[in-house]
Amino acid sequence: MKEIRIFAPGTVANVACGFDVMGFALDNPGDEMVLRTIPEKTVRITKIDGFNLPLDAAKNVAGVALLSLLSEVKEKVGFEVEIYKKIKPGSGIGSSAASSAGAVVAANKLLGEPFSKTDLARFAMEGERLASGTAHADNIAPAIFGGFTLVRSYQPLDIISIDTPDELYATVIHPQIEVKTSDAREILKRNVLLKDAIRQWGNVGGLVAGLMKSDYDLISRSLEDAIVEPIRSILIPAFQEVKLKSKEAGALGGGISGSGPSIFMLSRGEATAQKVKAIMAEIYDKVGIEYDIHLSKVNKEGVKIISQK
Ligand code: ADP
Repeated sequence: MKEIRIFAPGTVANVACGFDVMGFALDNPGDEMVLRTIPEKTVRITKIDGFNLPLDAAKNVAGVALLSLLSEVKEKVGFEVEIYKKIKPGSGIGSSAASSAGAVVAANKLLGEPFSKTDLARFAMEGERLASGTAHADNIAPAIFGGFTLVRSYQPLDIISIDTPDELYATVIHPQIEVKTSDAREILKRNVLLKDAIRQWGNVGGLVAGLMKSDYDLISRSLEDAIVEPIRSILIPAFQEVKLKSKEAGALGGGISGSGPSIFMLSRGEATAQKVKAIMAEIYDKVGIEYDIHLSKVNKEGVKIISQK
């Protein structure tokens, strides 16, 4: 029997102007998973620690992602899975994606790495289909590739890994309120004005160039969303105040993480990210809503192996 223990990161999808195409990985929070090979073509989830999630493989995103991977494996092999969950489901920091991505990266290692990262993303996306109804890759891509990613196209699946500057830190606040992904989708307009589209693709290009050149000013100027944020942010208490005061404290910029309710801010260096954390806490204490705050360096590796035997 072979066994592997991995770290599966939380991820921030959308990244302001990069709605539905960009994302990045975190070091904190993240889940841990243990996978063992078994001589049967099946997936057995034996333990879930942290949150109440289904043990039935067909109802757990990790199980669904692994079954999708196994459908392309000829040998008679399967997996036993333990999930140690730290990322709250529904928080907007890729809880389901961490389980799907972690499971397939670990399985690929156990099998001697027959699959490419893009193949793994394809399998993990089946987990996202279970969680949200659509097989999207905005959280899966950064969880598997690490750092910042761009999902350029789905047909064919084309995921681009973007260089990540060394000093980038994220501060993410998760207000303890529920924003349903379906509601967050529902309120979006179906059409976009050409002038807004032009501003948005200017910013996406600017953000990618800024990341690749480690040009923090350009990253800051480009972290703007002319299309989705003005509408969605009304679902998140004190959103504008958090953004404004974080920027006054030196943050480069930020926006809604995934479909919310989490808000992320990016900073150059940990000291500024710490100041942003204090500001977020102060604002939410005043508003009177419970919250969690995570501070993390942008994780360049994605899923990490902790041990193997
Ligand atoms: P997030 O926005 O943090 O990514 P999602 O809303 O996408 O969270 O996914 C959470 C949904 O997926 C919940 O309905 C949860 O029950 C379901 N789910 C199934 N398996 C898992 C798992 N292993 N980890 C997290 N969520 C899971």
